[in-house]
Amino acid sequence: MKTLASELAYFLRGRARQNLKVLVLYGIFLLTLILAYATLFRFLMWNLEGREYSFIAGIYWVITVMTTLGFGDITFQSDPGYIFAAIVTISGMIFLLIILPFGLISLFLAPWIEQRLRYHPTYELPPQTRGHILIFGIDPITRAFIQKLKARDLLFVVVTANYEQALHLEEQEGFKVVYGSATDARVLTGLRVAAARYVIANLSDPENTNICLTIRSLCQTPIVALVDDPEHADLLRLAGAHQVIPLTRILGRYLATRSTTRGALAHVLDSFGSLQIAEIPVHGTPFAGQTLKEAQIRQKTGLSVIGLWERGTFTIPSGDSLLGEHALVMFAGTRAQLSALEKFTGEAAEDELIFILGHGRIGCAAATFLDRRPIPYILVDHHESPTCQEHVVVLGDATGRHTLKKAGIDRASGVIVTTNDDSTNIFLTLTSRHLHPHIRIVARANNEENVEQLYTAGADFVVSNASVGANILMNLLEHKASAFLAEGVAVFRRPLPAALAGKTIEQSRLRPLTGCSIVALDPPDGSETLVSPPPETRLVSGTTLLLIGGPEQEALFDQIYG
Ligand code: ADP
Ligand code: ZN
Repeated sequence: MKTLASELAYFLRGRARQNLKVLVLYGIFLLTLILAYATLFRFLMWNLEGREYSFIAGIYWVITVMTTLGFGDITFQSDPGYIFAAIVTISGMIFLLIILPFGLISLFLAPWIEQRLRYHPTYELPPQTRGHILIFGIDPITRAFIQKLKARDLLFVVVTANYEQALHLEEQEGFKVVYGSATDARVLTGLRVAAARYVIANLSDPENTNICLTIRSLCQTPIVALVDDPEHADLLRLAGAHQVIPLTRILGRYLATRSTTRGALAHVLDSFGSLQIAEIPVHGTPFAGQTLKEAQIRQKTGLSVIGLWERGTFTIPSGDSLLGEHALVMFAGTRAQLSALEKFTGEAAEDELIFILGHGRIGCAAATFLDRRPIPYILVDHHESPTCQEHVVVLGDATGRHTLKKAGIDRASGVIVTTNDDSTNIFLTLTSRHLHPHIRIVARANNEENVEQLYTAGADFVVSNASVGANILMNLLEHKASAFLAEGVAVFRRPLPAALAGKTIEQSRLRPLTGCSIVALDPPDGSETLVSPPPETRLVSGTTLLLIGGPEQEALFDQIYG
């Protein structure tokens, strides 16, 4: 049934779809011709032979004559009548028996057969295949992940049970594709799953569970599953997934984190042992407008500033970097140090109220996150959520002229734009910026292409589902210390390079040389991790460094100290 549907779908795409339009127009032409002949038939029968036939009988006569069936039960008995019948027969042959089949064959059948003959899907991988990454389920997240795999020259295989998709992915996008059902043990064996490096399960939760169970009956290859409903995470783990990524919850948290200024502890993005990584919008803090040196954050709190986000660009700051109103600062430190920071940010007592536009799974996760702080918010959605009974929603179309004004957006300090449609998100970003020039706007981009447009529309921060998802997958694949950090940034471990032993962190010039920052040190004697070590800390041989940086910085580190 599925195969038949995918075959039929062929006729609804691309060129075939255009051809279908031609066919419909031709059908209309034939119908008009038949109706015109039927009218003429009745007219001639009455005027030439004095016989009266119904319109239905007229259509019946035209069809039997045009298809050259000619039962002979209704016939003309006069010369003009014979001539008319001959014309109808000949036009029937031309339009019905020659042009129509010819058109059907050349426009549909031939291209379809040609495609079948040309494309032979792969059903299994060569037996010696190993170290490959199997990807089940293609969407913007796995597409962005594949871009990263390609950049690193890693072998990946996309598995799909949809013939059309297999053809498209292979021929249009140049992916290596295997055609087959993800839950069929024979297909999995043919995919050399036992020798694979990783399996990414990105289908629906039940399908992912099924994949995990089938793979676990065959081998122990690590499986990363992306879960739609965080409550299914345990089930997936039980089924054998190594890692379960509750992406909707993570995205909700990212959006919520970046929409509010209150409470440094509310902004922890990820923690790694006692090391916490947090991001705080500069807006509303006493640091706004100061340079990093003037802000004296380390002196006051002990935290290290490890990065600055400004309209989607991540930079490693220097002392002269300006902490602009719209920037986000990324810190590394302990909980106690973050609490110390809270004293500063808390002083900017600005009554916060966040608007969340869209109460889908991600909007709901953002609301849940704010609930726990607690930070007040107002949710706006078209309709009640079918799955969430917890949150009160202001019902209305957020793009409507008065909905946001009436709901009180004037009082809001931040807005989270999180519908599943990027055009709507762009529109809502523009509207919110227009209604409220100073509001903090955090927007979600469902497709990578729209990130720039959302910034142009006035968003202060854009969270791209695809790049967050792809980064998490990549960090897990590369065994980074921290999987859930923001886009393009990861925490990674390296043994202290011999060249740096005995120097202080400042003398090592690690940051100016590589762009990486040391966020923590694991001393050689196994004693407690030293979080956010000050610049005068001396590096002793045998120490393990916990560093933070983007992929280029990490590569630079390995190149210099390899
Ligand atoms: P996800 O679960 O990924 O967050 P959903 O499609 O479930 O995505 O959520 C999008 C939500 O946004 C839906 O609840 C939808 O009703 C809501 N939404 C979309 N457009 C508008 C709009 N113009 N005004 C209000 N709510 C909207
Ligand atoms: Zn909810």
